[in-house]
Amino acid sequence: MWIGIDDTDSPTGMCTTYIGAVLARRLAHAGIRVADARLVRLNPNVIHKTRGNAAVCIEAEGDVDAAFAIACACVEELAEFDAAGTNPGVVASPVRPPPDFYYAALRDFCSLEEACAVLEPVEACYRGYKNRRGLIGATAAIASDLFDRTYEVLVYRKRENWGTPRVVDRESLFRAEEMTWPHTWDTVDQENDIVVGVPHTPDPVLFGIRGESPAWVREARSYVHSEEPACEQVYTTNQGTDAHLVPGVIGVLREGRSYMVRGVVERMPVTGPGGHVSLILSGDGTSVRCMAYEPTKGFRDIVRALIPGDRVAAAGSYKGESLNLEKLAVFRLADAVRTRPPVCPACRKRMTSAGTAKGYKCRICSARARDPEIERFRRLISPGWYEVPASARRHLARPLVRGTPVWQQAFSG
Ligand code: ATP
Repeated sequence: MWIGIDDTDSPTGMCTTYIGAVLARRLAHAGIRVADARLVRLNPNVIHKTRGNAAVCIEAEGDVDAAFAIACACVEELAEFDAAGTNPGVVASPVRPPPDFYYAALRDFCSLEEACAVLEPVEACYRGYKNRRGLIGATAAIASDLFDRTYEVLVYRKRENWGTPRVVDRESLFRAEEMTWPHTWDTVDQENDIVVGVPHTPDPVLFGIRGESPAWVREARSYVHSEEPACEQVYTTNQGTDAHLVPGVIGVLREGRSYMVRGVVERMPVTGPGGHVSLILSGDGTSVRCMAYEPTKGFRDIVRALIPGDRVAAAGSYKGESLNLEKLAVFRLADAVRTRPPVCPACRKRMTSAGTAKGYKCRICSARARDPEIERFRRLISPGWYEVPASARRHLARPLVRGTPVWQQAFSG
């Protein structure tokens, strides 16, 4: 059976993954075998999300009604019911619904009615609290189809420590990454000397480590020194898979969806107020603005190094009529040339234009030349993939350390 929960936290506390970890333990205690715990990220652009739009699915074997009762009790005990934006949803189903609803919730926007229409035919037990919105994420979680998957070990704090500053040894986090990279990633941002795996929000998470297998995330976790944790849970996730991206066409992008588009750099990138860099890409007779915001740090230098005529692919969410860059592929660099009047061979002075299509003329000796001088300058980037640093990476974005996935290769062909 599949048990889904969502929308249990608020900006001031709790985390759906923590309730998932507690639920997994209570199910096991009740004799229900837990086969897998999934942390499923959904459309990062939904406005109702608290933080990372996460939902949880527990795959288990046993009595559905009993499991549903335990899940509801867990949520009723732990969810932040008093917060205005918290609207929990709990589902338990003896069969997994078709994955279509998961893909819709991952890449698009869904309604509560659509979630219920998925749950009814599979005879799922479900309960939505308050405005019941959490049923959307809970349903998407149990319908999730992780064609590509990664893992995260989440370590939780003791209740008495919630809301107080976290005690996690910084050096040990850097060591964990050093000893296990590239099998784990994004524990720290080496480039910018920033710890990434320790949140700053007042929730029960102490730290998290992401990687390619349960064994690798546990190995990395073993290097970390911290305050004594309450418990920890290894989740199977769709994080770091680019599952939110769909191939898009410039000119027909829809607000709040995430795309990978191909295009040609139309004009020189511009750095605006706040250090945000904008890039105009053209394709299919129209253009789109791409943004590399200030928190993407050194990635902005890659964007700034582009020149008109470069052929690229850009990936990110389309919001406020711009594509917010998560990664970029440079396929072909334009010739970086600048033309200027030639130097007179006799006088060694630069000639001036002799008029439209009339070539150049030396003002001193009246010598003439037909062609300009062509200056080639060195490009600061090479063809290849570029990404934002770990500290600016979205949960769903696939880090390049995982390699270029097959569909991205097809897209770049
Ligand atoms: P939590 O840790 O509680 O999961 P969060 O940042 O993941 O925090 P939620 O509090 O779950 O955010 O809020 C997201 C809300 O949006 C949930 O009610 C969920 O059901 C709903 N939701 C998720 N994806 C979609 C979608 N694609 N379309 C419409 N609603 C969605």
